[in-house]
Amino acid sequence: MNPIGAIKQDFQTEEQAAAKPLIELTRDEKRVLKAYKEATPLDWEDWFWQIRKRIRTKDEIRKLVHLTPDEEKGIDGCGDKLTMSIPPYFASLIDPNDPKCPIRLQSIPQVHELKTAPEEMRDPCGEDSHSPVHGLVHRYPDRVLFLVNEMCAMYCRYCTRSRMVGDGRRTLSTETYNAAFDYIRSHKKVRDVLISGGDPLTMGDRMLEMIIKTLKEIPHVEFIRIGSRIPVTLPQRVTPELVAMLKKYSPLWMSIHFNHPKEITERVKSACGMLADAGIPLGSQTVLLKGVNDSPEIMKKLMHELLKIRVRPYYIYQCDPILGSKHFRTKVSTGLEIMEKLRGHTTGYAVPTYVIDGPGGGGKIPLSPDYIKSYENGKCTLRNYAGKEFVYYDPE
Ligand SMILES: *Cc1c(COP(=O)(O)O)cnc(C)c1O
Ligand code: SF4
Repeated sequence: MNPIGAIKQDFQTEEQAAAKPLIELTRDEKRVLKAYKEATPLDWEDWFWQIRKRIRTKDEIRKLVHLTPDEEKGIDGCGDKLTMSIPPYFASLIDPNDPKCPIRLQSIPQVHELKTAPEEMRDPCGEDSHSPVHGLVHRYPDRVLFLVNEMCAMYCRYCTRSRMVGDGRRTLSTETYNAAFDYIRSHKKVRDVLISGGDPLTMGDRMLEMIIKTLKEIPHVEFIRIGSRIPVTLPQRVTPELVAMLKKYSPLWMSIHFNHPKEITERVKSACGMLADAGIPLGSQTVLLKGVNDSPEIMKKLMHELLKIRVRPYYIYQCDPILGSKHFRTKVSTGLEIMEKLRGHTTGYAVPTYVIDGPGGGGKIPLSPDYIKSYENGKCTLRNYAGKEFVYYDPE
């Protein structure tokens, strides 16, 4: 059977395929599509087209968004640091008239990112110092982070890896991949590999499959996950062919980077639905960002919307002190307040773990509001989510 036949059989009968409606373009999608002369709704569905047409220049974005002077300066100056790149689909979520639009804040550079605060660092999580071979970060004994490429569909303005991601940077060579595979092969304690980047889903299916397959063949690697923001910034990338390929390597988990309820569109729902239907457990990782999601109401709404599309909230990250991130960073107390208003007040599955990646290389450190009032001589006095006190006695 040819591979296409296998895909059809695994996923849908021809009848179902014919019946599957294309996702109707929203008004905003149509507005953005119009800026590309001769492009059709079928181009819009095509992830290669979306990648090729990523918005990179001030002239391009100006056609779609009324830029503020601060944004113009940000775009002019960001080139040396982290270029602007926005797929037309993601740009269609930007409110052209609202400089505070949460999608806009994440994707269009602002002048503030050109300034550096004293506490900021080029590599805030100390990844380079924990890198035994190029592309691998080995911080925890039993798992490694494998940075398989340096390209993303959209460059998030607060990106913790802005030192390495961006277009025009190197692609990894075969020797680099082989060195990484050899390292994992020779470290028998590594049972978990997190494939990230860049964004692994900007690769073609075949390259990605080579990586997953090679890892799967290492006997001590029992857990593989992909970290990606593509299902959010370029959901068209989640094709039946990609899903069929990933499905072959079950168990395979995926962590998706979501920051705002506005990101959960019909296309994103459909992409996550396809992944979940293929048996890929989905988690979400959210970066706490000032002006984007730093309120308990927005965060709760995001978590609820994620559960509805079968994505389990996994982490909320305190924004790392990357260069030029001050305008995005909140106080730690803001994160704690959000956690206080989630835990107990809503479904436990909707409550992720709030973490700070220890600046300089401490790894993820969990933070939680304090529910222990006192704990002495076997007597633990607790408070619940509503502030009532309870006592638990340790066994003698
Ligand atoms: C986040 C991360 C991991 C995975 O951590 P989990 O808590 O298992 O999700 C592994 N290695 C590095 C370097 C990381 O930053
Ligand atoms: S998707 Fe991740 S790696 Fe890429 S720019 Fe955004 S935060 Fe950085």
